[in-house]
Amino acid sequence: MSWLAPGGLAAALAVGAAVAWGFGWQGLVVLFTFFLSGSLLTQLAERRAPRRTARQVIANGGVAAAAALLGAWTVAAGALAAAAADTWATELGAFSPFAPRLITTGARVARGTSGGITALGTAGGVAGAVLIALTARWVGPRGAAPGSAGLITAAGVAGMLADSLLGATLQGKFECPACDARFERGNSVCHEPVQLTTGWRWLDNDGVNLAATLVGATVAALGSRFS
Ligand SMILES: [Zn+2]
Repeated sequence: MSWLAPGGLAAALAVGAAVAWGFGWQGLVVLFTFFLSGSLLTQLAERRAPRRTARQVIANGGVAAAAALLGAWTVAAGALAAAAADTWATELGAFSPFAPRLITTGARVARGTSGGITALGTAGGVAGAVLIALTARWVGPRGAAPGSAGLITAAGVAGMLADSLLGATLQGKFECPACDARFERGNSVCHEPVQLTTGWRWLDNDGVNLAATLVGATVAALGSRFS
């Protein structure tokens, strides 16, 4: 498993075990659809992504695992749809001919900047959410799982938007005091140790991803209650 660091592998096995315990093979089909589609897109983008750590795995799959332990199918699907939407948006957005714009102000930002969005990436994110929603409805337990594919798609898209909004506002952004190079990790050292410019020091990309899957889960939970 060259996609996962050793800690990431342990976390992925824990998420897989929770999903299998809660939902059986049907849950694993949805989980693998998320995991494989994201990994294939990363390869398509020819990005040599660093191997996933335990933090990254929990950020993407932790909420779905918790929902699985509670037996909440639509909630877990909403969390995975959000994770898939964010992954697809990032990977397909890399092909955008235009530079991303910050979701809050519309200002052009460098590729890879948190909170930056492109039309192509956003369309890709919606497609990722649709894939998870259709898969979840296809294999989902009949009757026991309220909520349509439309609701799960909406949950995924809401999570993706939350990810961009938090990335543009509260996520910690850092700068080298000597050369103004920008960083998203507070422990980076350029010419000097980097300094916080905006956002919360402790809120990094993993924290934002976790919050985005929580938004997806919440939208799915509220939607299935009121539908
Ligand atoms: Zn520097």
